[in-house]
This record gives sequence, C-alpha cells and structure tokens, in this order.
Amino acid sequence: MSRSEFDIIKNFFANCPAAFPSEHVKLGIGDDAAQFTLPHSSVELRFNVSMDTLAADVHFPADANPGLIANRALAVNLSDLAAMGATPLGFTLGLTLPRSDDLWLQQFADGLTALATKHHCPLVGGNLSRGPLHIAVQVHGSTQGEGIQRNGAAVGDIVVVSGVLGDAVAALASFALPTHLDTLLEFDLGSLNDEDRTYLQRAYYDPEPRVELGQACAGRVSAGIDVSDGLLADLGHICAASGVGAVLELQRLPISSVLNKMLATKKAQLAALLGGDDYELCFTLAPDRLAEAQAIAAELGVPLTQVGVIEQGSGVRCTGEDGETVAIPRSAYQHFHQE
Ligand code: ADP
Ligand code: MG
Repeated sequence: MSRSEFDIIKNFFANCPAAFPSEHVKLGIGDDAAQFTLPHSSVELRFNVSMDTLAADVHFPADANPGLIANRALAVNLSDLAAMGATPLGFTLGLTLPRSDDLWLQQFADGLTALATKHHCPLVGGNLSRGPLHIAVQVHGSTQGEGIQRNGAAVGDIVVVSGVLGDAVAALASFALPTHLDTLLEFDLGSLNDEDRTYLQRAYYDPEPRVELGQACAGRVSAGIDVSDGLLADLGHICAASGVGAVLELQRLPISSVLNKMLATKKAQLAALLGGDDYELCFTLAPDRLAEAQAIAAELGVPLTQVGVIEQGSGVRCTGEDGETVAIPRSAYQHFHQE
C-alpha cells in the first residue's frame, strides 16, 4: 500500500507525542509550526518550531545556483513562522553535501546570510555530513499566546490571500522541468521575454516570506496558513482544522501578468489554485476586520486580496463568474501519492 504524505504522518508519527505528554507543548503536529511555553515563563510567550527540507532534484535541480537554493531553503521556513504570526529568533541548518566545494559553499552562505539578516534570524547551529545534496532548515520563533493557528475559521469569515498565486509552478515550467500540473496545463513558454523569465526565477527561488504581515495580523485574523501546497489544498487544511467549509471565487484569484501571458484565464486560475510553492499567506477573518487587515497590508506594500468566504460544511468549493460551482481536478502536489 502506498500512502499520501499526510497519511504517513497520521499513521506513524501523529501518536508519537501522545506517549510523552508535555504541559509545555501547546500545539503539536498539524499546523505550520509547533508551539511550546517555556518553564518558569511568566507571560504566555510561546516558542515556535518548524522545519522544511529541500532535496536536490526534488525541490531544485542539483546544479542550481547555490545562493538561490540557500535563499529558498530559509525562505520557505520563514514562511511557516510568518503563517504563525511569529517573530523569528534563529535557525539551525542540517547540510548534506556530496563534496566540499569552496565556491559553492561561499555562494550558499552568502544567500543564507542575506535573507537571515533581512529577517533578523541568525544561524545558531546545525549539522554537516557527506551524501547526496540535501538541506534541512529548522526555524525558531516566538508568538504572544497562540499567534495564528489553522483552527479558528468561523462561518461568515472572509478568506484573503497575500501577493499573487501560481507563479512558482509556472517558473518550474519555464526552467523546462516537469510539474505536477503538466497533464492539466500547457504553459506557453514562447510568450516569455528575459524579464519574465527573471521574474519567474525570483518567484521560485526567492519567495518573499510574509513575516511582517503575519506578525501584524496575529490577534486580528481567525486562522492562517502559508500557501505551500496550493491555495485549494492549504485552505482545505484550515477548513479541516476549523470544522468548516469554504467557497473561493475563481475570478478573484490574484494572478500575475506573466502567468496571464503563459496561460488562458481559466488555466491560470487552476495554476493559482493547485500550483503550490507560492509561500503567500492565506488568512480568514471576520468581515469587520477586513479594512484593518487591508490597511496593514497596504502599509507593508503587500497586496491582500479577498478571494472567498467561510461557509458551513467541509472542504473547499470554487465558483465561476455566474456564481455556479465549478469542478476542479484534485491535483495538489504530494510527495507520496495514495494508490
Ligand atoms: P508545512 O507545509 O506547513 O511545512 P507539512 O505539510 O510539511 O507542513 O506538514 C504538516 C504537519 O505535519 C506539520 O505540523 C508538520 O510539523 C507535521 N510533520 C511533517 N512531517 C512530519 C514527520 N516526519 N514527523 C512528525 N510530524 C511531521
Ligand atoms: Mg506551512
């Protein structure tokens, strides 16, 4: 039997913490980060931990620019802290290298340092070994109380998303790499000029972790997640954790002009829904909080788009311009496919 990655976690790892109950673990497996309170801590300040790994030829071509690989490895982790509304404290790095190459290492370290400096998140330790190229980053951050979790969405809440969606999967196509949407979408690569290709390369390797937005929205939004598996799947995680459903209005999905060049409107919407690796934030919030959230985002220079509403039920459905439900192929990226 072949299991999905979520099934593997549920069946083999989800019960592991239950054997060691800890009064300090306030949030375990199942959100963008785990949260601890610290012994003897007087305020409800929580320590947040999250880890994401990148494997060569799975998450990036092995010969990709080392600075870009480093940047992406840290950015995707910071994005999980952003989703929690956490303030970064530092990170550790588990690096497996096929060989020691000074030029590669210098470029990798420079990429890492630039992003770490920008987000005041220093490298504080790690581990180094020889083997196929593999990068594991674990980030640490703090929240006042719960920060932002996946389980607070309520019926009637509005669903918003930062930035634009779908560019990362389009970037993979522009690198002439296979994507999980190849059977569904045919990207028009002939339409791209050099500027577009540079834009897509940045979207993939240099996603902007929305750390400040997450921090500013903590306490104001009801639930949040970062978009790593595609909006449809990730909003689905919020719905499952909150015991609600959601409706997304397809024509509201924020799509870049480059993606619009590469795909016709309906296909671009599918890329935005199913693509993944966008590392934007998706929040749910009470309607009377929308103006405030939009003002915060505007202040930070981050687009924040209203894309849907939380409703009763379960799962995420999508509607077209006429308001009718549109069937969407289920095709979020999964490392392991259920057979
Ligand atoms: P994200 O996309 O936010 O990085 P994932 O989809 O990778 O989150 O993981 C979902 C949840 O499962 C997270 O809470 C994560 O910490 C947990 N998880 C993932 N892999 C493992 C594992 N091997 N053991 C325990 N928990 C895991
Ligand atoms: Mg996440």
